[in-house]
Amino acid sequence: MNLKEHIRVIPDFPQLGIRFKDITTLLNNGPVYKEVIDTLADHYRDKGIELVAGPEARGFVIGAPLAYALGIGFVPIRKSGKLPGETIEAGYDLEYGKDKLAVHKDSIRPGQRVLIADDLLATGGTISTTLNLIRQLGGEIAGAAFLIELSYLNGREKLDGIDVVSLVQY
Ligand code: 5GP
Repeated sequence: MNLKEHIRVIPDFPQLGIRFKDITTLLNNGPVYKEVIDTLADHYRDKGIELVAGPEARGFVIGAPLAYALGIGFVPIRKSGKLPGETIEAGYDLEYGKDKLAVHKDSIRPGQRVLIADDLLATGGTISTTLNLIRQLGGEIAGAAFLIELSYLNGREKLDGIDVVSLVQY
């Protein structure tokens, strides 16, 4: 299956010069969406992964069904101020802008093996911040899974030593 055919590229969104990879067209197609999740689940099955963590909002769309397919829990990484319980936070720069991410303090126990998932790896800022939060809670990073990787932005370099999987590269 050629997944690229199902990803729509929208020029100048959310700002001039950005060629946004719109995954809503892929999500709209049940068999293609299923193939994405099943391919990732097959890769990570029987690897002793205990949790999947994904940053809001598109990290939920990949991470939550992946956790379900693996029969393990999901940890939402959210923008600052959204989680109701006690959190820790970390700041980061985006491909276009700045933000702060948070995680519930009691969502990961020290030593748990956590797989990170998001729709797209660009500069790696979002994922490094997610990594940082998980490590602060004592979690072990079992890998990082993406639907899309923008290889020309070298986000992988920020994930040194971590097994990175992406299904589509630009
Ligand atoms: P990074 O932090 O690696 O620079 O950017 C990745 C984050 O920004 C991901 O959470 C992703 O959802 C979002 N993002 C950046 N560019 C795009 C894009 O072209 N398409 C989509 N779907 N998400 C993007």
